[in-house]
This record gives sequence, C-alpha cells and structure tokens, in this order.
Amino acid sequence: MSDCLFCRIIAGEIPSNKVYENDRVFAFRDINPQAPVHVLIVPKKHMDNVLQCDGETAAALTDAVGVIARQEGVAASGFRVISNCGRDGAQSVNHLHVHLLGGKALQRADGIIHNVPRINRDDAHIITQGTASESWAFCRRNIKVL
Ligand code: 5GP
Ligand code: ZN
Repeated sequence: MSDCLFCRIIAGEIPSNKVYENDRVFAFRDINPQAPVHVLIVPKKHMDNVLQCDGETAAALTDAVGVIARQEGVAASGFRVISNCGRDGAQSVNHLHVHLLGGKALQRADGIIHNVPRINRDDAHIITQGTASESWAFCRRNIKVL
C-alpha cells in the first residue's frame, strides 16, 4: 500500500469526490475549497511535483484542465490554474497536482495565501500606497503563507 495520500485517493483507498478520470489523470474536489470550484487534477502515475513531469503527462493535465473547466461551467467566465512546487512553493502533498479554481471573481491571492488577517485602514495604506519592499515586509509580518 502506498503511503502517498493522492496515490491512495486514485486507488480508491481513501474516498474522494471525483469529477473526472481518464487513463492518465484523476481529478477530485479539494477537501478545503478556496473557491466555489476547486478541483485537484493529478497524474495517475506518481511523481513528486512539476520537476518530474514529462511532456505526455503535462499534455494530459492540460487537456484535463480544459475538459473540467467546461464541465464545471467556468471555461467562459475564467479560472486559475496553480501547481505549488516544493518548500518555497508551499506544496503540502508531494504528488504532482494542479489546482483548478473558479466560480467567482478571484482575488490575486485566492488559492495561494490563506488566513489573511483583517487589516485596518493605515495598514491597508502600506500595501496599496507603500513601496514594493514595504508592502512585502508588511505581508511577510502579517500573512501566513502555507
Ligand atoms: P498543495 O498545498 O500541495 O498545493 O495542495 C494540496 C491540496 O490537497 C490542498 O489544497 C488540500 O486542501 C488538499 N487535500 C489535502 N488532503 C486532502 C484529502 O484527503 N482529500 C482531498 N480531496 N483534498 C485534500
Ligand atoms: Zn502519489
């Protein structure tokens, strides 16, 4: 039995809410959705992240993005595709996956930054009016990046 969470989901050992499957890829709803549509698309063959992704797998993932975006009704309105890679990319499950997010007008940080605190008007001024380094320093102090 694999100890990889997504390999176990693909094998049906752990239940998931499947939205699409073909011979190369498996897609299911994220357990902690960051948007009305939040689907994870994964290759059936285990690979840790995009660094191990071959061309055929990349093509299969891209094809699946199009199929699922249409199936979920977000192809026309637009959506976001993200693949986190490694420590600084905030990857938390080490089986290559693509997040497909949509179903609302996404903010810049949707699907990327979690636990954004409420900020007051003065602090907002730092982000909207400050220099890039001031804004980045503020965000690093106040926003937890998973
Ligand atoms: P990452 O942080 O690696 O880019 O994304 C991993 C994603 O997997 C997260 O968005 C997380 O919510 C999702 N996830 C973690 N465990 C499970 C699970 O058991 N089932 C499902 N459906 N999603 C999961
Ligand atoms: Zn795996």
